[in-house]
Amino acid sequence: MAMPTIKAVRAYTVRGGGADYHDTQGYHWIDDHIATPMARYEEYRQSRRSFGINVLGTLVVEVEASDGTIGLGVTTAGEIGAFIVEKHLSRFLIGRQVTEIEKIWDQMYFATQFYGRKGVVVNTISGVDIALWDLLGKLRGEPVHALLGGPVRDELQFYATGARPDLAKEMGFIGGKLPLLHGPAEGDEGLKKNIEKLADMRSKVGDDFWLMYDCWMSLDLNYSIRLAQKAQEFGLKWIEECLSPDDYWGYADLKRNVPKGMLVTTGEHEATRWGFRMLLEMDCCDIIQPDVNWCGGITELIKISALADAHGKLMVPHGSGVYSYHFVITRHNSPFTEIIMSAPNADEVRPAFSPLLLDEPVPVNGRMKASALDKSGFGVRLNPEVQLHRPYAS
Ligand SMILES: [Mg+2]
Repeated sequence: MAMPTIKAVRAYTVRGGGADYHDTQGYHWIDDHIATPMARYEEYRQSRRSFGINVLGTLVVEVEASDGTIGLGVTTAGEIGAFIVEKHLSRFLIGRQVTEIEKIWDQMYFATQFYGRKGVVVNTISGVDIALWDLLGKLRGEPVHALLGGPVRDELQFYATGARPDLAKEMGFIGGKLPLLHGPAEGDEGLKKNIEKLADMRSKVGDDFWLMYDCWMSLDLNYSIRLAQKAQEFGLKWIEECLSPDDYWGYADLKRNVPKGMLVTTGEHEATRWGFRMLLEMDCCDIIQPDVNWCGGITELIKISALADAHGKLMVPHGSGVYSYHFVITRHNSPFTEIIMSAPNADEVRPAFSPLLLDEPVPVNGRMKASALDKSGFGVRLNPEVQLHRPYAS
């Protein structure tokens, strides 16, 4: 069978939601006094937008095959990512077979290693890789999950991240993950408020509903241990991303010191097989949480997931919408998945990349049938009403 070659690669930027769920206007729970590493500075404590969390914006990558079929990938790398795609990475795609995904990933990673390895460069590589998997699925007329080996269960089950686990329970989710609101700079008073919030939510959702705390890199080791100890009484299932992603030693210490039965999770700001190898071999956590849009894309997630499985750990991606769903349904060590509640008051289920993508499946009663993922590629398309900007035509 003759496989088409790649004839064009295009990188666009777009503002206002899409891959960058922080890029919102007006009130949103996701930007309402969330504990962050910048919260040590009072002037940056109330809003993550104040220190620039939405500065990058969304990157949209299109990879076009010689027969005109277009693969689509989105991530958060904005204009910097568009530059990297058009000025650097496109040379590893143009004229190549669409099936050369592994070799293209390897060349993109090692050609950028002198300035890349993690962060925005790997976000960008992830966007290109996702577009390639989408393109291959479309050309073969198969969903990406089929290319990955096919579903191992009939449906996905979801937990919801947002400010209202009580509403998430009513909507049929298996759990709710609260953002931690107060960091160490707000002292014992802040710690007390964090526990009161958890206690209040526990009283609303009853004993059997999962409750978790997402700490977004905001804590130190001692604060994390104190929070975990106090939260045990209210049945906290896991404590997430307490420390800086560079502090592997701190995570190992934390995992040894949380109450028995409480899980430690992290990894949304980690990247590649080498980063996750550190988390796994140093026994930093119980669940790794790579973001498909940031960890290196699907090609790298295959390796990260296998490494986690060999270490007896779960791999539950951070957010990632449909890019997570197609992977998670194919793996036994990914038994549930996350949806980030993108509605400002966390009171309704919205597609992860809205308004940028159309045809995104969403969970119903906290679940999604495998059959909802049966369209070619990732089964999503660009919303023609969203304005794209192409800053660097190659
Ligand atoms: Mg998180």
